[in-house]
Amino acid sequence: MPRYLAKRRLVRRGAPPHSAMACRTLELDELLAKAQNEFQQQFGARPDIAAAAPGRVNLIGEHTDYNDGFVLPMALPMVTVVVGRKTSDGRCTVATAVPEADEPRRVSFSVPSKQPLLPGSPKWANYVKGVIANFHAASAVEGFEAVILTTVPLGGGLSSSASLEVATYTFLEALTNNQSKQLKDKALACQKAEHDFAGVPCGIMDQFISVMGKKGNALLIDCKSLEAELVPLDDPKVAILVTNSNVHHNLGSSEYPVRRRQCEEAARILKKPSLRATKLEELMAQEKTMDEVIFKRALHVIGEIRRTEQAALALRVGDNAWLGRLMNESHQSLRYDYEVSCPELDLLVDYANEVEGVWGSRMTGGGFGGCTVTLVNQDAVDKVIANISSKYPGKATFYVATPSDGAQIVKL
Ligand code: ADP
Ligand code: MG
Repeated sequence: MPRYLAKRRLVRRGAPPHSAMACRTLELDELLAKAQNEFQQQFGARPDIAAAAPGRVNLIGEHTDYNDGFVLPMALPMVTVVVGRKTSDGRCTVATAVPEADEPRRVSFSVPSKQPLLPGSPKWANYVKGVIANFHAASAVEGFEAVILTTVPLGGGLSSSASLEVATYTFLEALTNNQSKQLKDKALACQKAEHDFAGVPCGIMDQFISVMGKKGNALLIDCKSLEAELVPLDDPKVAILVTNSNVHHNLGSSEYPVRRRQCEEAARILKKPSLRATKLEELMAQEKTMDEVIFKRALHVIGEIRRTEQAALALRVGDNAWLGRLMNESHQSLRYDYEVSCPELDLLVDYANEVEGVWGSRMTGGGFGGCTVTLVNQDAVDKVIANISSKYPGKATFYVATPSDGAQIVKL
């Protein structure tokens, strides 16, 4: 076949975008091979069960989930894998091959039918225990040995925690040959694991997208009805560039509950069940009577919910300029009204927007560090990376992210 034809076919099928300067994410088979190797070293045998689940990046819809609003994430090519085999010793023995996890990196505990599971130390194992405790067929878990490995950076705002939960759940489905009937229930069980065992009062976004993500699509999730709708994200001319600031300000964990309370207070003042149920005009009518900070928080949330619905529409009609504008507005709103950005994220957004070919850029995730997400023409990706790298005072890392599939059982 002539070379130009081969190239065109690749492009039409949606060949993964590439960049000479972004980090390369290990392919699933490479990651599985490493995990199998680690299992061999840990347990002296070959695993025969494997599951994978992705991390995610939220394109828009920040701090809207706990306000009954919309979010628009996509699943990443970065995944967590769990490989293992069944045992009949009534124990779950799990090792993580991730050096950032707290010690000890290998734990063993009784199956839930013998002894109820409780959170404890090390922290990372709580995600695994929580999922086993909330697995729909927990009594069918008779014992297993497993190794965990991931390409999702831990604590970087790309949801390594949900990918670990969902990969573990999917592993248990394969182990017990008992798949969850409803994807929604699977995601909710994983969310409950994070609430009850990791003590993180997270929304539903991360687990939903890790379970339901589809290649070439973002997922518009209605956090009120829990309905989720795929939205095509497959324009071969544009890329989604994820930039990790590699900073993490501790403020996030203390400010998160404060923001939640402020939103509840705004809804109470406005006599609404939630900010989702509040129109912008209704908020504006109360501007004079409301505390300024509470007003600004509500302004962000109400605007962001609207922007997220519009962003889904922009994607559907293929309007990159519109989507980019919404992303920029989202960032400014998070920076000035919701006040959850930080200087590093603001710099990353500004440096990205300086480059021609960038449609829009914003912080993504809870804030106070973590990552930005940028909508950029494929041919401008390396220019953005070069511009940020030359100006950003810290060390940023870059990933070109293609919207990927959700959790799967993998044949070894
Ligand atoms: P994020 O979800 O944004 O990456 P979180 O703080 O919610 O950040 O979750 C990170 C925590 O999840 C880690 O500190 C660790 O306890 C746990 N974790 C995630 N992935 C793994 C893994 N592969 N092995 C062990 N622990 C993991
Ligand atoms: Mg998390």
